[in-house]
This record gives sequence, C-alpha cells and structure tokens, in this order.
Amino acid sequence: MSDDCLFCKMASGALDVGKLHDDDLVFAIKDINPRAPTHLLVIPKEHIVDGRDVRAEHGPTVARMFVVAAALMESLQLAKRGYRIAFNVGEDAGMTVPHLHMHVLGGRRLGAEG
Ligand code: AMP
Ligand code: ZN
Repeated sequence: MSDDCLFCKMASGALDVGKLHDDDLVFAIKDINPRAPTHLLVIPKEHIVDGRDVRAEHGPTVARMFVVAAALMESLQLAKRGYRIAFNVGEDAGMTVPHLHMHVLGGRRLGAEG
C-alpha cells in the first residue's frame, strides 16, 4: 500500500469506485477515459509499480489478472472477436498511474500497437 496511490486507495476501499470484479489478489474497473467501446483496467491489490518491478513471486497475481480479464471479456461477449491487453511501462509509454495495471480494450477493430 502506497499512501498517495490512486489504485491503492481503490484497492483498500478508501476511494469508492464501481468494481466489476474484486477478489483477494486483483480488482477490475472501467477506465474513466475509455479509448475503445470497452476499456477495462485489471489491477493487482499489491502496490507493484510497473512491469519493471514484476518478480517471480508475483506469478499468481499476474496470472489472476489474465484469468479475470478473460472472464470479464467472455461475460461481455467480446472473447470470440478478440481484444487487446496492454501494459504501459514508464514515461515513453505514457504511463500516468504508477501502480501496475492491465488495460483490456475491445469492441472495435483496434489499430496497430503504438
Ligand atoms: P496508464 O496511462 O497506463 O498509467 O493508465 C492509467 C489509466 O487510468 C488511464 O487510462 C486513465 O484513464 C485511468 N484512470 C485514471 N483515473 C481513473 C479513475 N478514477 N477511474 C478509472 N480509471 C482511471
Ligand atoms: Zn498503489
């Protein structure tokens, strides 16, 4: 838990946000500024800063992020047509919230990455 971290505040419940999913390791929300018809964020409860800080011990958490993303997109009937999973890492990627999160984008034909 990092005191002034937006996603840590959501994880702890200090900041009220509508969660699409909530379990012991991760939660999922709708992105406030969606770049696709469906734009979800799947977020670990542990404060991992970004992909550069992922360690082998985070394996169960990272796997859960993928499992939750797949289940949510299946429930939204977007699994068959496909979607994009993306992680921004640091400045050149335009990362704005330094707490690991998976973007899950779907519902339209997406352009090339980058
Ligand atoms: P990134 O740019 O990869 O760090 O992604 C951070 C994402 O968090 C952006 O897509 C923002 O639109 C999103 N975001 C910021 N504040 C909120 C919020 N209060 N609720 C939902 N999504 C948010
Ligand atoms: Zn955090």
